[in-house]
Amino acid sequence: MLPISKRLKKNIYLDYASTTPVDPEVKKVMDPFFSLQFGNPSSLHKQGREAKVAIESARNKIANCINAKGSEIVFTAGGTESVNLAVLGVAKNSLKKDHLITSAIEHDCVLNSFKALETEGYKTSFVSVDKNGFVNLEELKKSVRPETVLISIMYANNEIGTVQPIAEIGKWLKIINTERLKKGLTRILFHTDACQATGYLDMNVQKLGVDLMSVNGSKIYGPKQTGFLYVKSGVNLKPNIYGGGQEKEIRSGTENVPGIVGLAKALELVQLTRESENQRIGKLRQYLIAELLKMPNVLLNGVESRELKVNTKESNNIRSLPNNINVIFEGLEGEALMLYLDSYGISVSTASACNATKNDPSHVLMAIGRTETQAKSGIRLSLGKYTKKSELEYLIKILPEIVFTLRGIKK
Ligand SMILES: *Cc1c(COP(=O)(O)O)cnc(C)c1O
Repeated sequence: MLPISKRLKKNIYLDYASTTPVDPEVKKVMDPFFSLQFGNPSSLHKQGREAKVAIESARNKIANCINAKGSEIVFTAGGTESVNLAVLGVAKNSLKKDHLITSAIEHDCVLNSFKALETEGYKTSFVSVDKNGFVNLEELKKSVRPETVLISIMYANNEIGTVQPIAEIGKWLKIINTERLKKGLTRILFHTDACQATGYLDMNVQKLGVDLMSVNGSKIYGPKQTGFLYVKSGVNLKPNIYGGGQEKEIRSGTENVPGIVGLAKALELVQLTRESENQRIGKLRQYLIAELLKMPNVLLNGVESRELKVNTKESNNIRSLPNNINVIFEGLEGEALMLYLDSYGISVSTASACNATKNDPSHVLMAIGRTETQAKSGIRLSLGKYTKKSELEYLIKILPEIVFTLRGIKK
């Protein structure tokens, strides 16, 4: 093994699932809104009106991308805030301490919103997943109670890339809700956290059958701390932030005009290149998985094949994101591997970026049945629009020696 000073420092970023660089085109459309068109959209003068036009145009562009109406888009400061608004906003909209359902593998922003509600007396259910990370649909259906008000299931998982059958759940829920309305029960609302899915999957909210959908900019080559919540017409939410009544009184505060403009551009760009990027990145993923699995004692988390072979025209057969690879290297610590790779200028992540500072094993890897030791031996490699095959080839070249060293085996 080369001493640190002799190691070639590449600049290989394989952590696109934690965040992405801002696309130069996105930056360009944001630029005028910092110092030239700096107005407050709530102001009635010329500068204010210009800013208002800009955010309303962004709103309509976003609505177009997801087959919604402009009035159904609420701008927020990112994925976490959108999710908090959806979950807490539905729960607190009724005066009762109702019941809410989610899955065991959600992002912390969902899980911790649910846990916060529990401490206030709300009832919750966390539905388990199978060994590939697919939500147990039978269990989901059985966990519905008369007092259930929300089901929140993520579109694609941030750690292992598994894609949930959102449209299928949406269809089932529609039937359930018709029955419930006849019985005089409240309609169950359906939220999906789509933060990882936005760049790669169909975001058509009508097809998905969702009432609420959380999206952020920082995962799609847009600015950080930008995002939106899709709120279907007729769905009422209790705000989490009070103030001047912006965003139809659901989310007060002066709008992040450059951020909103950038978010809309970022969403348009990723949705435009979605199909071709799925092909290109999907092939890179296939290559990298095949190479990694050639190494001894390496286990893949999530599904290897991105598409379900049975092609039912109706349902979406995509089962995994094209850019996510999560592997366990048995007999070593994922964190040590991540740091070694960093010393070569290769950026990867253990489990998810948000968990990286905690020493707990990943709740996602535990939920798919990995042991605690295995869960701590995992790394996530996430690809993106600037990933080149040569970068992956370099990784594969240097990886065996690092793995041998960390496992304490002489090569
Ligand atoms: C990143 C992410 C979030 C949080 O988004 P922020 O913009 O960082 O607040 C939520 N859910 C998923 C699935 C994510 O990947």
